[in-house]
Amino acid sequence: MAKGYDAGSERFHEREKREKEYKKQLPGEDDEPLPPPVTPIESEEKPNRNDPCPCGSGRKYKQCCGKPGT
Ligand SMILES: [Zn+2]
Repeated sequence: MAKGYDAGSERFHEREKREKEYKKQLPGEDDEPLPPPVTPIESEEKPNRNDPCPCGSGRKYKQCCGKPGT
């Protein structure tokens, strides 16, 4: 009785084929361009004059790089 075996084997191969096709589809879905991440654009605002200078000197901005004339 090879009929039952053949049917099962055919089914197995069909399933394998389907799984391959299914896996083939997955990367295609990943290829969809993702929406660009929303990142706030850092505006180059001047730091507060009384804040520590961003240059890392430890001095106040107004006494360092924010000093008028420099
Ligand atoms: Zn500075």
